[in-house]
Amino acid sequence: MEPVRPTMLEVDLSALRHNLDVVRAATGDAQVCAVVKADAYGHGAAVVARTLLDAGAAWLAVALVEEGEALRAAGIEAPILLLSEPVGRGRDPRPAARRLLDAELVPSVATTSFADALAAEADERVGAHLLVDTGMARVGARTEAVGELLDHPGLHVTGAWTHLARADEDVDTTDRQLARWDAVVTQVRARVPNAVIHAANSAGTLRHPRSHFDLVRAGIVLYGLSPAPGVPATSFGLRQVLRLRTGVSFVKHVAAGTPVSYGHTWTAPVDGWLATLPIGYADGVPRIASNGIEVLLAGRRLPQVGRVTMDQTMVFCGEHRPSLGDEVVLLGGQGDGFVSVDEWAAAADTISYEIPCQLTARVPRVHLG
Ligand SMILES: *Cc1c(COP(=O)(O)O)cnc(C)c1O
Repeated sequence: MEPVRPTMLEVDLSALRHNLDVVRAATGDAQVCAVVKADAYGHGAAVVARTLLDAGAAWLAVALVEEGEALRAAGIEAPILLLSEPVGRGRDPRPAARRLLDAELVPSVATTSFADALAAEADERVGAHLLVDTGMARVGARTEAVGELLDHPGLHVTGAWTHLARADEDVDTTDRQLARWDAVVTQVRARVPNAVIHAANSAGTLRHPRSHFDLVRAGIVLYGLSPAPGVPATSFGLRQVLRLRTGVSFVKHVAAGTPVSYGHTWTAPVDGWLATLPIGYADGVPRIASNGIEVLLAGRRLPQVGRVTMDQTMVFCGEHRPSLGDEVVLLGGQGDGFVSVDEWAAAADTISYEIPCQLTARVPRVHLG
């Protein structure tokens, strides 16, 4: 059935295609692996994946076996890279290895123990990308261990990759990581001349051409959000894909001095109109951003006031009387106005990535264009 509530997340697929074009223009010959983990950063993984594959992305990447399985269940046949070794629920990695093989995901392998688990579950050598730590210290083989992984009898190494820790902010660290990586690339290519080599995330893609190699793993930029705090996405020519909208659910006039919402953290400075919106922190409006964000209503940018509550949020409209059902845009454009995800990230003291990931399943995703 149609949702009753007017709150929804619109996902602009033409903006998504545009952002892929921006990435492809920046990367030339390198192919694009669209990172669609975490439900495509909250945008809806299956639709986003299909759209980007149709528009020229060659690969997909996910964080979890379950995410890869969901894409397969949606009928997606493109290569899907799993971005870490899945450990599974016990100490034995074989059940997780079985699942990723059944879903035909491309494993990233960093340890001989996981290579052993893959080999135990497969009848033939398992196609895999080696995952090498060159300075992130999260997951990945030490560079010294690459040789024994290349020699592993259960693996058919088809690619190798590393992950940059500071591509968004620091050139020297990135250069040092890439220098370490170059030595690994030489070693891998000596054994597997056509191995798919990759290192770049979004920041590497847009800011460090030297990190492009054969494939770039682009996530945040495809959604039109900035990979670098303080650098607006528009400066890269990107278009924000998501638009979060709702409608006015309650209208009242308040006198100057009226305190609003839990804790009375805001008080009306003058007489005026107060609009209530049917959206709150249970939908992903960060409570910590209370009194720190603005919305678009009838062509005006208006302040959100008082504490964001679980299901409802208030906006002060001053002398402008809102009507029940008026469209309110919390993120994205309305008329000439625009609210960026970066604004919310600043108000919530976080990075752009966290904002769409926190928009909860209670908000229906509507794909347009
Ligand atoms: C999430 C992730 C990416 C994508 O990062 P963006 O900054 O969103 O482009 C790329 N590679 C790995 C290993 C990741 O975990």
